[in-house]
Amino acid sequence: MEHLPFLQLSQAHLQVLETCPRKFQYLFLDSLMLPQPSLVSENQVLGRQFHQLMQQRELGLDIQPLLDDNPKLREWFQFFQDAPPPLLTGQWRQSEYQCTLELEGFTLIAVYDLLIRDTSTAQIVDWKTYPRPPRVQLLQQHWQTRLYLFIAAEALGYPPDRVSMLYWFAELPERSASRSRENWLSISYSETLHRQTRETLTKQLTNLRGWVKDFIEHRQDFPQVPLADPKCGSNAQPCSFASACQRYPDRPDRSNTALADLTDLAAIAELPLDPPMGPPMGTPSID
Ligand code: SF4
Repeated sequence: MEHLPFLQLSQAHLQVLETCPRKFQYLFLDSLMLPQPSLVSENQVLGRQFHQLMQQRELGLDIQPLLDDNPKLREWFQFFQDAPPPLLTGQWRQSEYQCTLELEGFTLIAVYDLLIRDTSTAQIVDWKTYPRPPRVQLLQQHWQTRLYLFIAAEALGYPPDRVSMLYWFAELPERSASRSRENWLSISYSETLHRQTRETLTKQLTNLRGWVKDFIEHRQDFPQVPLADPKCGSNAQPCSFASACQRYPDRPDRSNTALADLTDLAAIAELPLDPPMGPPMGTPSID
C-alpha cells in the first residue's frame, strides 16, 4: 500500500474534508489562507487559557495565579466547581493526552483534553468554552466526536461500548436565565457506530489518497461540491473561497478570511488553529 508518512489528519482536517474537498485543498495544500495571529479571537485565547488551567489543575499545580488574573476564567471555573459533570472515577487520568492511529496510510491524531480510564472503561472529556449547542446531533455527527471515540477504541483497545465522550460547556445558552440546566453532554459509543465510522473513514481516506495523488502528479484540483450546495453559501454570504471557485465571481475574494470559517466550526469543536500536519503537504511526492 502506498504510504503517506507526511500526512497527519486531525478531526479538523476530516471536518473540512467532509464539508468540501476543494476547501480542504485550498486550506491545507494551496495555502490560499495563511494563519494570521490577528485573526485569533479573544475568545480563542480565553479558551486556550481555560484548557491550560484545567491541565494545571489535573497536574496538581497551583491554578490560583491564573484565576486571579482573569475574571472570565474565574467565572468558568466556579461554574465547573458548582456543577461538575459526571466524571468517571478511573484509575488513570491524563490531560492533553495525544493518541494516534495509522489507517489507510494516514496517521489519525486525537488530543484528549482529559482521558479517564481503568482496565475496562474509558471516558474522553472535552472542555468547551461555548454554550451547549441546541442540537445534540451536531455534536454526535461532528468529526471530533466520531474520530476521538474511534481512536480510543482502536488505539487504546477498549470495546466500543465501554468508551464514552463527555463535553462540558462553560457558557450558558444566550436565552437561559439560570445555571440549572445540565451543561454537559455524554455521548455513548457502540459496535455499530464504530463500524460505521470505520467505513466512512476508509472511504474518505481512500478518496483523499487519490485526490492528493492527482494533485501532486497532475496538479488536478480536488472536487467541488455542486453549485447549488448550500455549503457554497449565497450571493449575500458566500463561502470564503467562492471567488477562487468562481461560484459568485462578482463577490470580493474572502479567502484571506478563511481562518474565520475554521473558527466558526470552533463554536462546536474548538478546532486547533494549527492542526498537526507534519511537513507541508504541497511539497512531498507519493511513495
Ligand atoms: S465555494 Fe463551494 S466548492 Fe468552493 S470551496 Fe467553497 S464550498 Fe467548496
